[in-house]
Formats: sequence, C-alpha cells, structure tokens
Amino acid sequence: MRFAELVSLFGELEGTSKRLEIRQALSDFLAKVEPAELPAVIYLLQGQLRPEYEGVELGVADSLARKALALATGLPEGTVRQHGSRSGDLGDTAESLWGEGKKLASPPLEVKEVYDRLTRVAEAKGEGSQEVKVDLLRDLLTSARATEAKYLVRLVLGRLRLGVKEMSLVDALAAAFAPEEGFKEARAAVEAAFNVTSDLGEVASRLATQGLPGLAGVQAQVGKPVRAMLAEREATLKDALDRMGGTAALEYKYDGLRLQAHFSGAQGGPVKLFSRRLEDVSAQFPEILEAIPSSLQKGPAIVEGECVPVDPVTGELRPFQEISRRRGRKYELTRFQEEVPVRLVLFDVLLAPEGPTMDRPYPDRRARLEDLVGVTERIDLAAREVVRDLGSAEAFFLRALSDGCEGVMVKSLATGSTYRAGARGFWWIKYKREYTHELADTVDTVVVGAFRGRGRRAGRYGALLVAAYDAEREVFPTLCKVGTGFDDRALKDLTRRLSPHELKEPPRDVVSTLVPDVWLEPSLVLELRGAELTLSPVHRAGDGLLRAGYGFALRFPRFTGRIREDKSPEEATEVKELLRLYQTQVRHAEAETGEGLPEGGKAPRNEKGTPPDGTESP
Ligand code: ATP
Repeated sequence: MRFAELVSLFGELEGTSKRLEIRQALSDFLAKVEPAELPAVIYLLQGQLRPEYEGVELGVADSLARKALALATGLPEGTVRQHGSRSGDLGDTAESLWGEGKKLASPPLEVKEVYDRLTRVAEAKGEGSQEVKVDLLRDLLTSARATEAKYLVRLVLGRLRLGVKEMSLVDALAAAFAPEEGFKEARAAVEAAFNVTSDLGEVASRLATQGLPGLAGVQAQVGKPVRAMLAEREATLKDALDRMGGTAALEYKYDGLRLQAHFSGAQGGPVKLFSRRLEDVSAQFPEILEAIPSSLQKGPAIVEGECVPVDPVTGELRPFQEISRRRGRKYELTRFQEEVPVRLVLFDVLLAPEGPTMDRPYPDRRARLEDLVGVTERIDLAAREVVRDLGSAEAFFLRALSDGCEGVMVKSLATGSTYRAGARGFWWIKYKREYTHELADTVDTVVVGAFRGRGRRAGRYGALLVAAYDAEREVFPTLCKVGTGFDDRALKDLTRRLSPHELKEPPRDVVSTLVPDVWLEPSLVLELRGAELTLSPVHRAGDGLLRAGYGFALRFPRFTGRIREDKSPEEATEVKELLRLYQTQVRHAEAETGEGLPEGGKAPRNEKGTPPDGTESP
C-alpha cells in the first residue's frame, strides 16, 4: 500500500473529533489493507512502531528532525529553525518548506518501506546513532511528498496526535472484518483478544488471516502483559457481602504498585515485570526479578500481585509513597533497594505451567497460585479468608487495617469468577478505610490545563484544571480546578513535568467550559481527595447523567501527593465510576440523616456560596 493513502487517512482523521466518523473512516480503510501490512498500519495510526508495552521509541528530538529537514530540503538549518518556531509545529514547517514544485525522482513511498525505515531509526542506539538517525530520516524525507513529510516529521517526534484511541481501533477492526450482522459479537471478541495480548497489531493480523475463529484461541503469553482485571466499589462491607450472596473470599488490599510477573520457566531465564499501565518496569525491581524463579520454580507462568515497600528491619509494610521514590532511579537503585526493599504479594495467576488459568473460577486460580508459589522473603501470598457472615468480614477488615493495608478486596467464589482482563466488575469489590468518612474514595484525574501562579507561586503553575475520563465518548471532561495539597516543591516539580505538554489550542479530546491559562495534553494522572461530589453547571464530567446541563464537580479538592504513574490518562476515574461514587455518597447521607440528598445533589448550595467549579482558592 502507498504511504500516501495512509497519509490521506491521517488528514481525514485530523479533520474530525466525532467518534462515529473516526470509526467509519478507520474501518473503511482497514478493510482495504493487505493482512501482512495491517500490523504496521495499526501501530502507525497510534503513532507507534510496536505495541506500547515494548516501549519502542523513535528517539528523535526536535534538533535532529530539523537537521534532517535541512538536509532533505537543502535549506540552511537556521531557516528551518526560524520557520519552525513561527509555526510551532515542525510537521507544518516540513509541509510548507516542500513547496509546490519539489520534483521527486524517487518512486512513491510504500507503507512497508516507511515502517521498516522508521524501525531502523528506532533501533539505532549508542555511539554515532544520532548521525545514523539523521541520515535515515533525511533519505526518507527526500522520497516524501509534502503531506507525507508533514506526518513523517510528526511521527518521528512522537506528535502524531490523531486522537485514535485503542477502543476506536477495536470498533473499526470488528466492523471491517466481521459480518455486518455480527458486529456486537465480533467487537466483544476483538476486545477480549486485545485485553489478553495488549497488542492490536497481533489481533488485527489474526483477524485478517483467520477471521473471528482466529481470536478464539488467544491465550495469555509470557512477555505480553494482560490488561488488569478491575474492581467495583460498594458503600459498605454488608453491601459487598450481600452482592456476593453472603459468602466471599476477603483478601487484604495492599497499597502498592500492581505488578504482573512473567516467567518463562528457565532458571536464570528472563523474568519480566509489567505495571498496571503495561509498562515494562523490570529494571526497577531487581530483587523481585531474582526472587521469582526460586519462588515459582516452574514456568511458564504469569502471576499478579501488589508490590509493597517493607521495613528493612521488621519486615512490616511501609507507606506506599516510599516505593514511588524508586521510579526512574536507574543509578541509585542499589541504595533504594537497601532503604526501601519491596515484597511482591501475589493474588492471582493467569498462566500456570500446566496451562492457561484465566478461564478458571477464582477459587481454582487461588488454589493453583498456592501450589505454584513458594513463599520467600520477597514473594508472598495475599492474606485471605473465606467469610460467610458480616461479623467475620468486619474482623478481617480490621485485621487488614492494623496490618498496614488500606482495606480489603471482596472476591466472588462463583463459577463465573474467571479473570476478566481489562474489565471492571462486581467479581471483585474494593472496600477501603476511607469509605467511612468524607467522599467515599479518592479520584484519579488527568491534568488538562493549568492556571499561572501568583505571589509566592509566580513563575510556576498555581492551580490545575483536571478531568475524568468518559470511555463512551472517549473524551476527558473536566471535574474541578485544584490548587490545594501541593507544597512549593510539588508545584515546581509538576510544572517541570507538565510544561513540555503545553498546547496552544485546547486538546481535541478535552471537554471544558473553563479556559485555563495554558492547555495541557492529557498525560499525567493525579490522585485527589474531596469533600463530596456535587452537580455543577461548570464542569462536564458525567454531563447530563443526572441532570441536563450539569456535570459532576469535586468540592474542596486537594492533591493527596500521589501521582498515579501506574495509570494512563484513559485509566483515570471514569464518569461511570463518578456516578457510583455519587450514589454511594447519597447512601451514606441517607444512613446518617435518615434522608437522601436533595434531588440534583448539592447544586443549590453551590449556587449560593462556594465557587461553582467546586474549588478552594489556592
Ligand atoms: P482501579 O479500581 O481502577 O484499579 P485504583 O487503582 O485507584 O483504581 P484501587 O483502589 O487501588 O483502585 O483498587 C484496586 C487495586 O488494588 C488493584 O488494581 C491492585 O493494584 C490493588 N490490590 C491490592 N491488593 C489486592 C488484592 N488482594 N487483590 C486485587 N487487587 C489488589
């Protein structure tokens, strides 16, 4: 396939933010692509070369792209730089520098060729690699037409930003390759296969070559992270137990970092650790890498658990924050290993040496996990008890708290309690200490904008505009403005991390009526606590779910100090969860006062006193 055809799809996608139009354009296009080229097309549409968990990066900085552009156009680098800073987008610069009349001697670019060459750019590492990258890029650009050059430059800089979400590709693949009448079923199969492999390229290729039956056999594979099964909430332990029919397994809810460990089985062979965000975080936890083979003995195996910091002397659990200090510390790891050793507390098994286990009910998986795991200083099993009455559940919950956990996970023992990759459901219910006061839980929000600080905060951001995620519409609607809970250092640090994501225009997938001083591309997820959720005419999260023209807003929000590095923007709290939180809050209010909140929540109170966006002033 010609690269120009893909580029024309890029243009079409850029011109719309409507999900249905995006899906239609994608599915029409994917149906035309040769199966062999499909994975490359799928990755390129996401601005990638490989599935995200492989972490393949093109490693091209602006300066390098400018150099390649100068060489390809024959213009001085200074001219390219000047033009680039005027337009603010090197892609646009490339397109306009090409001009109308650039004569190309070379034949039109093919998708495969572009993909292979970009792969070589990504693979160039170490000494002399910058020159190699420039040369490769220059050659590629020399063969490109103007619009191709624009998108090539954006691709290599990691700024394609077509707004193609994974779930749009799932929809489009199902629509392109499944029979008309079977869309729903096909979509479920495509999503299920994606949840198990986290690799849309592989799913697309199977679908194109073997049709839907090709997806049926997709199993968890060592080396490919499985998307995490997620939990629902209930307002009280009684509600949780009732929902499970009176009997359930309770496990300690450890407060750490969720990790999936992949073990091939070979002693001394590779072990991989994936975060909940599907990043390969193996390098951060050498002691766990070392401990897995001796604990499991046999492979292949995929086990899942929570990685928690422990006290080096007493072995007791330490606060979660201590683990986050390890992130990105390549060089000081040895010191951190001594100061903040970690333990992986396992709670599930997705692949056992005897075969896949995801389709087995939870009691069966737990039994296999217990068989498989040898408890060591570094590897443990989640504390667990099967309870049949509320009294035992409460006693277990209190034990969990006094052992340093944040609550319990209530797990279904039913035959349907299989491991549901990527799904949130009532097979697991979380119940935390916080549920007894204030807003029943923290919320994880994406930063989408910032307000400049004044006074002591001058020169950095003073408050942030944050959003929830609306999975149906694939947008980030705002939830509140937050300026509390940050000390000066945190604000400075956040400003440093966020400012490279500043945008001139509002991001296409952000829904906001407030206009911040700067817009930010959704990238960072912050945990917030608030007094309550209210209905607000200003914020757009869950717009119209309860009342036309009103969204949810978090009242008196404050940053808990926890950056959810383990969550991607799309894993921020969803508007559906906000609805449940709101309902939980109503139930608590009913329990305390004997009556519910006024219809429409606390919006009237908002209108009188507090700012409508539910914030305290910073
Ligand atoms: P989400 O519900 O989206 O995961 P979250 O990460 O904010 O949001 P948590 O309140 O942290 O939700 O609860 C779910 C998380 O609890 C799991 O993802 C896992 O990391 C952790 N966890 C701790 N102990 C267990 C356990 N025994 N079983 C399952 N998960 C556990």
